[in-house]
Amino acid sequence: MNVIAGHKKTFLATAFIIILCLIADPVNSLNAQGKRRGNKKAASQEAQLPADYRSKNFLIHTDLEPADAKDLLERLEKMLKIISTYWGSPNRKVIECYVVKDLSNWPRGSLHPSGAQSVANGGGVTMGRTSYRGNQIVSAKAIVYATADRGTPQHEAVHAYCTQNFGRTGPVWYSEGMAEMGHNWKALPKKGQPIAVDCPTYVLNYIKSSEPQSLNEIVNSKSISGDSWQNYCWRWALCHLLATNPNYSPRFRPLGLGLLMKKPVSFNQTYGSMAREISFEYLFFLEHFDQGYRCDLCQWDWKTKYRKTNNVRGLLTKIEASKGWQASRTLVEQGQKYQFSVEGEWKTNRDAKPTSAIGSEDGLGMLVGIVLSENDEGEYTLSDEFELGETGSFTAPVSGKLFLRCRDAWHELADNSGKVSVKIKQ
Ligand SMILES: [Zn+2]
Repeated sequence: MNVIAGHKKTFLATAFIIILCLIADPVNSLNAQGKRRGNKKAASQEAQLPADYRSKNFLIHTDLEPADAKDLLERLEKMLKIISTYWGSPNRKVIECYVVKDLSNWPRGSLHPSGAQSVANGGGVTMGRTSYRGNQIVSAKAIVYATADRGTPQHEAVHAYCTQNFGRTGPVWYSEGMAEMGHNWKALPKKGQPIAVDCPTYVLNYIKSSEPQSLNEIVNSKSISGDSWQNYCWRWALCHLLATNPNYSPRFRPLGLGLLMKKPVSFNQTYGSMAREISFEYLFFLEHFDQGYRCDLCQWDWKTKYRKTNNVRGLLTKIEASKGWQASRTLVEQGQKYQFSVEGEWKTNRDAKPTSAIGSEDGLGMLVGIVLSENDEGEYTLSDEFELGETGSFTAPVSGKLFLRCRDAWHELADNSGKVSVKIKQ
């Protein structure tokens, strides 16, 4: 018996992973096909035969021009540094990628059939093979096949890194959401510039013009990789919010590592107690979504204690120009009139003249308010926004928590500066 048990312990198991990814939107994948057909005629004159390029962590076989291939290697290395730092696990093995600019440049049989098929569809595929002894990875190898366009090599390289370093890439929403982050990420949250929304135009247009997919649909549906580019947009948006909003980012990294290491963790378990807040902030993010939007600056304050103001001393609070809605500490009652006065100045961009809370002629820089309340289902809802300015009174449109901010475009808060003191009394 002992011998058999001992034998079992050293038994090698091999797991195969194939992650098929569709990243390009329909318009562009049609363009890609057109481009391929168009290029066929010119191929004999300009054919760039596939060649090999190496960097510290990558080996790429590609028909890109040498300068473009070197540029891609640099971008891949930069991205790998960001993601391996984020996950706290240096890459262990060279990642091998076939990056295809024009399929007609590739001799028949030089690409794996599944790889060639994915590329022809305008996407990519990562094929992985991992050997385990017990739960321990003894060897792991992933090969990427990707079109040269649209960040596909970066996307697939995230899958390859996860496969080689963790043996898996996590559930679909996480795997694909993080792979999309890989090519959108420009820097680590804590180093240098915090992460602003910076995504391809088709993602921006789609998210801005569509009814959001619910959190439950993204996280709990039995979806598969490569299902639709639209689903990739929602997965990325959710991962972006969770990774960059300080209300949720501290739990997101350990959750992700747990999923990658197959620990007993889940989205629902990690964020269950915050479900209402996440749902509210997720919809808020999508409503104000734009290039440059900063989830860290626009995070909602769920911690500050609120109370009713008294009419002698009132409640004093500081509001910063560079942040989204901020807690006023004042609980307001529907129909009740409140007095307010504001001291201080702020600016709505680097070169703007400082203004008081009345703002400038274009309406920017004005102190505005909104009331957060809960409906019968316990969901958070917002009143309409109302203008305050420097001094005066307002009547609360509903009962709830008063939030304040300096009016400016939601995706242009980062270059604002200054803060004002607001006093509110009945
Ligand atoms: Zn993918």
